[in-house]
Amino acid sequence: MKYSPYSHSRIQTGNCPFAFKKRYIDRDRGIQRGNSGFGKVLHLVIADIIKAMVARREYSADRLLELHMDTAELSRTSEMLDILNTFHHAFVLNRDKVAGIEEAIAVNFDDSEAPWEDSYLRGVLDLIEIDGTHATITDHKTQFNILAQTQMDDNLQLSMYCYLAKCMYPQLTRFTVKIYFARYGAYRQSTRTLADLDAFRRTIDIMIGKIESIEEWVPIACSSCAFCEYISACPLAQYDPKGLVPPEVMTQAQAVREARLLRVREEQIKVAKERLKAFSSANGPIEISGDYAFGFVENCSTEWSPKEVREVFERHDHSLDGHVNFSKTNLRRLIKQAQRLDPDFASDLEEIGKDKKSTRFKGYKC
Ligand code: SF4
Repeated sequence: MKYSPYSHSRIQTGNCPFAFKKRYIDRDRGIQRGNSGFGKVLHLVIADIIKAMVARREYSADRLLELHMDTAELSRTSEMLDILNTFHHAFVLNRDKVAGIEEAIAVNFDDSEAPWEDSYLRGVLDLIEIDGTHATITDHKTQFNILAQTQMDDNLQLSMYCYLAKCMYPQLTRFTVKIYFARYGAYRQSTRTLADLDAFRRTIDIMIGKIESIEEWVPIACSSCAFCEYISACPLAQYDPKGLVPPEVMTQAQAVREARLLRVREEQIKVAKERLKAFSSANGPIEISGDYAFGFVENCSTEWSPKEVREVFERHDHSLDGHVNFSKTNLRRLIKQAQRLDPDFASDLEEIGKDKKSTRFKGYKC
């Protein structure tokens, strides 16, 4: 393997060959993001606190902060102390089941234990608790956005942690993965089965195979663009100073270039919106001029009960024909339930449904 050991972030970075070369071949550190030192310090302090909790030792958050604090982060001490205070109240630890804290696991291609620098896959598990054949793996994050359930279920990093745990503790058959969002003292969790981990292994072998066979270190816009450390050097992200709107008439090559630029911008806008949303929910609308603001706008929709509507129609001697529409979502749900309980009813309903197609211009995975 040319580019192993593979951690989760190395595999993710491989989505863009340009960024991969910068980080792992040129060893270019790129733009250091504002929160990286902050998150690192908190990670170290939280690990020390958990160790103290397991050993039933007294600890002082201030003292631990002093120990790990990077001078660059000094101005954010009170923010860190707030997070640690929340941690103290919100973090749940199954002290007697703790099997590892900041446990570094590295394995060979055949899943056997390997040296850290000379392995196929590797990762560091913030916390692993084991109860018989069940592992609970917790990752701490200081990011602002809390992941949605689908993002937890599809999360490659969490699957990687479970996979590494399975290699190290072969008795494990069930896995719960949690993220502790340290800013809010909130958890999100998901599960993985052995079958999920087999599928995960097949997926990452394919992803790694693609990285190993990269021939051109070209930029490929992907979901990492919004956080990319190499954006200032990326040819795709260099906007034309004359403006961001593409020319009216384009060649195929220009269209591809513009579409690639658009993908980078879309990923950045997605993250910018999430962050502004978090700010706005705490601080209210963000006015950018006298007549434009970003904020939460209430939409009001009216619902009518079918039973009451029918009664009013009957009372006034009107026919319902041509006036009633069934909600698509409700009917889909009904068909799904009926497939189990009354398959004939479900199939008759399915048969009378008529597809209505529409076309929307958007970026999509192909
Ligand atoms: S901005 Fe996007 S396309 Fe450019 S280097 Fe970074 S990840 Fe790759």
